[in-house]
Amino acid sequence: MPTPLSPPNFSGVNQGELMDALRNCELGKGDEILAQFESDFGTLVESKNVVALSSATSGLHLALLALGVSEGNIVMCPTFTFAASAFPIIYQKAIPYFIDSETETWNMSPQYLEEAILKLKSNGQRAKAVIIVHSYGNPAKLDELLAICKENEIPVIEDAANALGSTYRNKQVGTFGTIGVFSFNRNKIISGAGGGCLVTNNKNIADRVRYLAHQAKSNTPYYHHENIGFNYGLSPILAEIIRLQLPSLTDRIKERTALRNQYQEIYKDIAIFQTQCPNTVSNNWLNAALFDSDVHRSEIEALSQLLKVETRRVWNPMHLQPIFDSEQYFGNKESESFFEKAICLPFSNLLVHNTLAVNEQK
Ligand SMILES: *Cc1c(COP(=O)(O)O)cnc(C)c1O
Repeated sequence: MPTPLSPPNFSGVNQGELMDALRNCELGKGDEILAQFESDFGTLVESKNVVALSSATSGLHLALLALGVSEGNIVMCPTFTFAASAFPIIYQKAIPYFIDSETETWNMSPQYLEEAILKLKSNGQRAKAVIIVHSYGNPAKLDELLAICKENEIPVIEDAANALGSTYRNKQVGTFGTIGVFSFNRNKIISGAGGGCLVTNNKNIADRVRYLAHQAKSNTPYYHHENIGFNYGLSPILAEIIRLQLPSLTDRIKERTALRNQYQEIYKDIAIFQTQCPNTVSNNWLNAALFDSDVHRSEIEALSQLLKVETRRVWNPMHLQPIFDSEQYFGNKESESFFEKAICLPFSNLLVHNTLAVNEQK
């Protein structure tokens, strides 16, 4: 097995605390553990409401539901993203409009977004939501994107799944839109080996999401359901594993940033990296390097195979996927050139420290 691209790092979690979480769960305190996680996470990202969920994908699905996205509605989504940003649009039988990237941050292009919105407008239509992704942790051009959405009165969902700790004007990304989602999947910077959450400053949305995530049970002394619900809640055990890692976020970002600086120095003549705009900080979750030729990229891939360290090609844009290739697309193939020449370089605590991170102490 090669060393994974970005494996989970459980430093900060020790056996005693893990056993306490199990015991407290036995004692029926699962909801208290979840509430503590939500409170700590809300403090960290400065959001009024946090709902712990099983994944960022379930968060995106509930975000669309909370905004009333249903059959036939149009939702704008970057084409350069992981498919999980787009799948929930289909769960709702809505229609994705795929927007290509600008070539600085590699995130949703304000120009193409505006083009798509104006095209709809000319037909008397309006998108029901815009999903903004901060790819590989690098903040998107929020000022421009949010201004367009505001002008056209379209709510924003931020897929900040991999961008915990990334900031825009000193504010955590994911807290700018009406709703933001984060992931604690196995490869994320903070990981429960699974898990996610949704943040919003709108209490009504938070209440709605919490209700739908827990099987839409009404607040009655008997089982009563007025809506179709989902089992999208987070396990309290995972919540505690995630919560215990939150204090180490700053150090983890420092490590990833140091490695990025090294990569940038080493590859400065043959690769370019995502531009980090002024007033933004990226958590440098993954370092995507766009090589000047496919030959250079192949060499890096061959070397990493030899050294048994995983690299991975960047996302293959959604508008090229067999499931989405008949959907509307706005752009000029920017993301296709990322896909043709870029890879994500490895980041692993195993590489940086050459040691397992799990604390051994009791
Ligand atoms: C990881 C990731 C997701 C999915 O997160 P899960 O918690 O695994 O559902 C969605 N969008 C982006 C951009 C991601 O990086």
